[in-house]
Amino acid sequence: MIKKIFLPLFFLIVVGCQSTPGTGRSQLILVNQSEISSMAAGEFAKMKKVPNDPRLERIRSIGLKIVEVARREDKYRVLPPANQWQFAIIDDESPNAFAMPGGKIGFNKGMFAYAPSDEDIAVILGHEVSHVLARHSSERVSQNLLAQVGSIAVDEATKHESSAVRRAWMSGFGLGAQVGVLLPFSRAHEEEADHLGIIFMARAGYNPEAAPAFWQRFSKAGGKKPPEFFSTHPADETRVRKLLAWLPEAKAQMPKSVSP
Ligand SMILES: [Zn+2]
Repeated sequence: MIKKIFLPLFFLIVVGCQSTPGTGRSQLILVNQSEISSMAAGEFAKMKKVPNDPRLERIRSIGLKIVEVARREDKYRVLPPANQWQFAIIDDESPNAFAMPGGKIGFNKGMFAYAPSDEDIAVILGHEVSHVLARHSSERVSQNLLAQVGSIAVDEATKHESSAVRRAWMSGFGLGAQVGVLLPFSRAHEEEADHLGIIFMARAGYNPEAAPAFWQRFSKAGGKKPPEFFSTHPADETRVRKLLAWLPEAKAQMPKSVSP
């Protein structure tokens, strides 16, 4: 009897522990990638997008450059190939951007005011593509499932779509219970996405100095309420300091033809 109760939990923990592509940090993944990608595709399809926005091509070309340079390294081939990525400008004035498993990138139209240059967009997309690479959403869905439905019930619960399971998926994507509310990743996830992101933007030919500069512009904005992207991505001194420390490593990876 005892065996029957504990076996599923043991099994879940064994199959659930994987290491993060990118940093090797061990992470708990209880959902498979194709399952989470198809859930993400369904949510992405429902979002209100700006049709025929001429800026979409710019977002797509910067995003795909980053995906292509990341995938040059064998260990990062877990990233979906370029032809599987979808980009959209979301019809939302709040400054924000997000990435979903399977390769879906949303860039709110309100974000352009905060990211005027290609380098700024590369900072944001490098960071977002890195969240996908490091499977942060899968990890967050797994943590939420554990918290909401209990470890033994996870396997069973994911087969049926209950409201608790739906909440776990949605907040895993960072969408919160209501669509449109983006939730912050943990500090560890943010740091991984920042580190990988600054390397990838440099490899794609964008000057990585734009990364600390982008965050620094907002870290000093204290007082009034920070714009949404910066409330889910705290632009604090620690973040800027780490990005500055990674600059030499990132600059060394820039293509020779565009090195500053
Ligand atoms: Zn982030």
